Amino acid sequence: MLGLVKGLGITLKNMAKPKVTYKYPDEPLVMPDRFRGIQHFDPEKCIVCNQCARICPTDCITLTGKKHPDPEQKGKVIDTYDINFEICILCDLCTEVCPTEAIVMTNNFELAVYSRDELFKDLNWLHNNNTHIRSENSTNLMPKAGGKAK
Ligand code: SF4
Ligand code: SF4
Repeated sequence: MLGLVKGLGITLKNMAKPKVTYKYPDEPLVMPDRFRGIQHFDPEKCIVCNQCARICPTDCITLTGKKHPDPEQKGKVIDTYDINFEICILCDLCTEVCPTEAIVMTNNFELAVYSRDELFKDLNWLHNNNTHIRSENSTNLMPKAGGKAK
């Protein structure tokens, strides 16, 4: 009997304390700003320098460029850009090295799918992953590819 009363006392005491659990996935979980989540890619800013693919420790970035459609402009524009999230370790190196912030981290982390093939994300998917971009990148003033610095 004493044990029951003691147990109830502990239950009642803890009921008044603030909750430490979340109703995930019913309520979205917002991660801290420095969280290393799934990347957002902006093709307009990419200068096809290949630095992100070169530094990637797991070789999960594949990209191709094509000649700039404007004959007045030099250099290339991005044609395809894919990340294989089967092997991406979200280490942040690709975003750190990108000179134009074409690839940046977001706080998004949900990648659960039924097929491994679906973990291969292309340029459009990465471009549309444009929510919860890390705040230091969402206000960047870096020039767009072929454009002038502000
Ligand atoms: S986060 Fe790391 S592992 Fe993933 S694509 Fe970038 S460099 Fe490669
Ligand atoms: S995403 Fe950045 S580092 Fe990668 S090719 Fe484009 S500009 Fe270069």
